Amino acid sequence: MSQLLDIKEEVKATGALLVAVSKTRSEAEIMLLYDQGQRVFGENRVQELVDKYEKMPKDIEWHLIGHLQKNKVKYIAPFVSLIHSVDSVALAEMINKQAAKNDRVIDILVQLKVAVEETKFGLQNDELNEILTSIKSLDNIRVRGIMGMASFTADHDQVRTELQQLKIHFDALKQSHYSEDDNFSELSMGMSGDYKIALEEGSTMVRIGSLLFT
Ligand SMILES: *Cc1c(COP(=O)(O)O)cnc(C)c1O
Repeated sequence: MSQLLDIKEEVKATGALLVAVSKTRSEAEIMLLYDQGQRVFGENRVQELVDKYEKMPKDIEWHLIGHLQKNKVKYIAPFVSLIHSVDSVALAEMINKQAAKNDRVIDILVQLKVAVEETKFGLQNDELNEILTSIKSLDNIRVRGIMGMASFTADHDQVRTELQQLKIHFDALKQSHYSEDDNFSELSMGMSGDYKIALEEGSTMVRIGSLLFT
């Protein structure tokens, strides 16, 4: 379990944040990381996220990293720290509404699709301008940056190219929409298989699961 500390050091040295992806892991497994100081955890299912939030220490910051349906936003709105996976205006509007009901502002990332695989959620670049413009008027949402995933492939050149594309989009959006907004600062990219490349390419947040729990 010194795996966590090694990875943590490695991530911290770049100034990025380590999100420990705890989906499908038991509370006992999560507590092993918690006891070593990890406080930021990511889940991809709403029900599992809510269950763990209710049962586990309250100083954990919970991130939702998986696809989110509008009708489930209300369950996580009271406590979620960051939603990585916003991919439509309708979803952003629902998060805004539920955040207002809970008298809070919810941090979000907009999920961008760069991977060539067909199965991934996320927006194409041309949809991004539209969503970012619409989101600006929503007072109970704060856009912190973008999230993306590279293709799941052993071809490291392809992975690097896709991660570079995410960084290029991030920089362009920062300049076109958020040049005056210091809150737009996060580029969530990198998982167990590609986090080293992601950190080299400018990730500020890596989402690592399997590597931490083996
Ligand atoms: C599962 C998951 C991860 C972590 O994947 P590992 O390969 O286990 O590190 C990261 N991001 C998302 C969106 C995930 O669903």
